[in-house]
Amino acid sequence: MERFEIKEVKAREILDCRGEPTVEVEVWTKGDFLGRADVPSGRSTGKHEALELRDGEDRYRGKGVLKAVQNVNKIIAPALTGRDATKQREIDELMIELDGTENKSKLGANSIVGVSLAVAKAAAKASSIPLYQSIGGPHVHILPVPFLNLINGGKLAATELDFQEHIVMPVGAKTFSEALRIGTEVYYELGKMLADRWGRHSLNVADEGGYTPSGMKDPREAFDAELKAIEELGYEDEFVLGLDVAASHLYNQEKKRYVLMGKEITREHFMDFYEDLVSTYPVQSIEDPLEEEDFKGFAELTRTLGIQIVGDDLFVTNVKRLNEGIKIGAANALLLKVNQIGTLSEALDAAQLAFRNNYGVQVSERSGQTEDTWLADVTVGLNAGQIKTGAPCRSERTAQYNQLLRIEEELGSTAKYAGKNFRKPK
Ligand code: PEP
Ligand code: MG
Repeated sequence: MERFEIKEVKAREILDCRGEPTVEVEVWTKGDFLGRADVPSGRSTGKHEALELRDGEDRYRGKGVLKAVQNVNKIIAPALTGRDATKQREIDELMIELDGTENKSKLGANSIVGVSLAVAKAAAKASSIPLYQSIGGPHVHILPVPFLNLINGGKLAATELDFQEHIVMPVGAKTFSEALRIGTEVYYELGKMLADRWGRHSLNVADEGGYTPSGMKDPREAFDAELKAIEELGYEDEFVLGLDVAASHLYNQEKKRYVLMGKEITREHFMDFYEDLVSTYPVQSIEDPLEEEDFKGFAELTRTLGIQIVGDDLFVTNVKRLNEGIKIGAANALLLKVNQIGTLSEALDAAQLAFRNNYGVQVSERSGQTEDTWLADVTVGLNAGQIKTGAPCRSERTAQYNQLLRIEEELGSTAKYAGKNFRKPK
């Protein structure tokens, strides 16, 4: 027990990949095992996410997190000292109780989730097993399909593209390392083609590492460019395409209209647009095709499109909202972002609820990441089969891919790449 007993919990303010402050937490056990975890941060956030506590004062343009740091050091730390780090759920429930609000607005989801993840890491260290095994048990062996977001728009890029992420999915690869290699080759081929056709400023990269072709407005042009790069390399049998539309950010609540390529369109018109897109392009996954309150619209699209429909802003990794969706068949996959809900236990509950109801689970970055790699471990720990963590450039993105390469090597012959079964890995 000594080795697992929590001796110290300590938070600090660090910077994420956008240069904005975020929380880092260290949990030390009596056996001198350290779990250190960094908290990611979204920009294109859902309305129903747990609250991210920001200081709101002059320093760092109001974005400082010293209050959240204080909440860890002064309120959470004393409550956790002496506890067993392997009792993840007990610890998470204790923090939920200490906070006492529905959306973690008293202590801040950023303080709570930092501690939750650091406890998980400390427990794994003290047990001398990798984090993915500590989360998922000895049987975990699925390496995920990387959803490589190669062209960016929406709130996460200075482009005229409305959709946030134009994704390529190397489902035909035999292994994760092959998937990453061919995905990266496509990334570079695409860069060359975009620079030729849209100018060299296209090579500037956005928050998640995707290219930013200036003047490109139509998502179909992004798909055309990606397919051309894929074909040029002879990989047309290996790749399918995906999107994160992040449609809440295209929606005008008063007018009940979406804005697409400068035109106001109805929800029905938007649905027709998707029908067309799916019949023209090899699209296999669309995240947040409609705004975050339109459960019925999600259900209709799930029925009619026959592909993976992912709920991000719709579900916000929250079992209540996921249950609401499951009841009517809204979407068929959950986007799992641990900080949307605020503890690892609650995020794992959401994943299990999804699996039990035949929903897929895609583990996702935030647009503001750090170099911490727990995301890769959570993905393998869940046998999730799919991960979204941006383009294969920028260190906070490659940190996850590199961790997956290490895990693949460590698992050796038992490692299995999810490939075409990404929604229901076998
Ligand atoms: C997303 O919308 O899926 C995303 C990763 O963006 P953010 O982290 O800004 O919410
Ligand atoms: Mg999203």
